[in-house]
Amino acid sequence: MIKYYPILIVLSLSQIYVSCDEKESPDNYTIIYSDQIYTGTDDSAEAIAISDGKIVAMGSKEDMNSYVSPTAEIIDATGSFVMPGFIEGHGHFSRLGSSLMNLNFLRSKSWDDIVAMVKEKAENAKPGEWIIGRGWHQEKWSVPVHDHVHGYPKHFKLSDISPDNPVLLVHASGHGIFANQKAMEMAGVNKETANPVGGEIVRDENGMAIGVFEERAAQIVYSLYEEYLKQLSEEELKTNWLKGIELAQDECFKKGITSFQDAGSQFHELERYTQMAEDGDMRIRLWAMMRHSSEKMSGDISKYRVIGAGDDRFTCRAIKSELDGALGSFGAWLLEPYDDKPHFHGQNTTTLDEVKAIAEIAYRNDMQLCVHGIGDRANRETLDIMEEFFTKNQAKDLRWRIEHSQHLHPDDIPRFAELGVIPAMQGIHCTSDAPYVVKRLGEQRAKEGAYNWRALLDAGAIVTNGTDAPVEDVDPIESYYASVTRKRIDNGMEFFPENSMTREEALKSYTISNAYAAFEEDIKGTLEVGKLGDITILSKNLLSCTDDEILEAEVLYTIVGGDIMYQQP
Ligand SMILES: [Zn+2]
Repeated sequence: MIKYYPILIVLSLSQIYVSCDEKESPDNYTIIYSDQIYTGTDDSAEAIAISDGKIVAMGSKEDMNSYVSPTAEIIDATGSFVMPGFIEGHGHFSRLGSSLMNLNFLRSKSWDDIVAMVKEKAENAKPGEWIIGRGWHQEKWSVPVHDHVHGYPKHFKLSDISPDNPVLLVHASGHGIFANQKAMEMAGVNKETANPVGGEIVRDENGMAIGVFEERAAQIVYSLYEEYLKQLSEEELKTNWLKGIELAQDECFKKGITSFQDAGSQFHELERYTQMAEDGDMRIRLWAMMRHSSEKMSGDISKYRVIGAGDDRFTCRAIKSELDGALGSFGAWLLEPYDDKPHFHGQNTTTLDEVKAIAEIAYRNDMQLCVHGIGDRANRETLDIMEEFFTKNQAKDLRWRIEHSQHLHPDDIPRFAELGVIPAMQGIHCTSDAPYVVKRLGEQRAKEGAYNWRALLDAGAIVTNGTDAPVEDVDPIESYYASVTRKRIDNGMEFFPENSMTREEALKSYTISNAYAAFEEDIKGTLEVGKLGDITILSKNLLSCTDDEILEAEVLYTIVGGDIMYQQP
């Protein structure tokens, strides 16, 4: 059990006059005691003292005596597990925020459940207002769809319950959408509407759109929603955005996350984050990838390259690109066709030349390149581009990343370590996708190359971890459990458990490896004197508890720079 002693701070005259930036007087320590401290290094400790945002001392309980004062914040976490704060290695921060404001179907069990949720929203919506949701996944429902195309339901039920409000529901993978009749009418979709390059309008046997728009086709409807948003005032949009960011921060703290790596933001968002950090309004530590076309980034982008703004609250030192889509929506670009969609190899969503152009821009601006690669073809092409680039420029230690590195040809697995390319993976995707991976890829490809962090680690690669939130719940405990068991929580289904990480490997993947993948291993990822005081305290010891107990682990404290951002009520 945790004992927490809040100690009243009595302001002395001198403290009243210090500026906001110096509100923490240097002898105002946060001291944590525990018999279960995972430092992430060879050193052990029973106590940690933090001051001015950083760890200033570690050692025995007695070693801390000189830091104890009436104004110190003392957390006695004896019996609890103290670890470096979780770092979310790949998520979408503002989208996580908006998902917390819109309908969320991540836990929906059937299409009817989803239709019912939309119905309730439609009944209370103003005429013409868009109804937005995300997280549906046709292969994760326990009730099968009878009248379907490739497993997708048709739009009729959704159109019936919302005849006057356009509905746009983003697929859990983020790589497709579902629209109702109203939205399709507004977008002018009919039998003649052609599939765009890199996307597909899913149609029934008569050639009529069923409501699903895969990959680039989603833009046909999505662009209308964007038009609708443009009618809102700048002020309204920004207020909404900020509301989402606040919700996203609270959600992360509740789940033990102290740092978040954002997988793709545009200039205006990067500016807002920088401003928030400089104004002291950013509570979490955010590290972001810039996301634009090479054309948009062809000018001077140096002002968006920001390192450690506002006491290490915001950094943008990477650029995001993407070569394919997601496996669930047949968007993963494969070397051999899908098992359940013969002759189809998936979608190449960005040209190789465009990715090469973005690589040049990243290199010129001293930024990391992070390329989304799900299918084995997308991964091979990305590795080829990176290898050619490193050789040509004799470049070392650029820490370029392949986001997801999900399905790999066995020949490509050793190349990650050889080239120093980081597979930026998500433990939870493995068990979340498990029900359909073998169907899509067949037994052999699934066993050898799907979510195979075991083989990547054995080959010497630095594997990172995360959730791709809001694609999955941002909870690191669930992703940790998936990483070490490869077992689904709901029905116990296992996905090649021989490819699991060890407990310690999984902890590293969520802490120091994520830090390394952002050039931040000198300031976070382990508990050491001089590093940031970012700490998560859990009710279970993730190294020694049973598999089942992992899921019972509760977040007791989330501490950023020595400040308590979340405390279990
Ligand atoms: Zn993502």
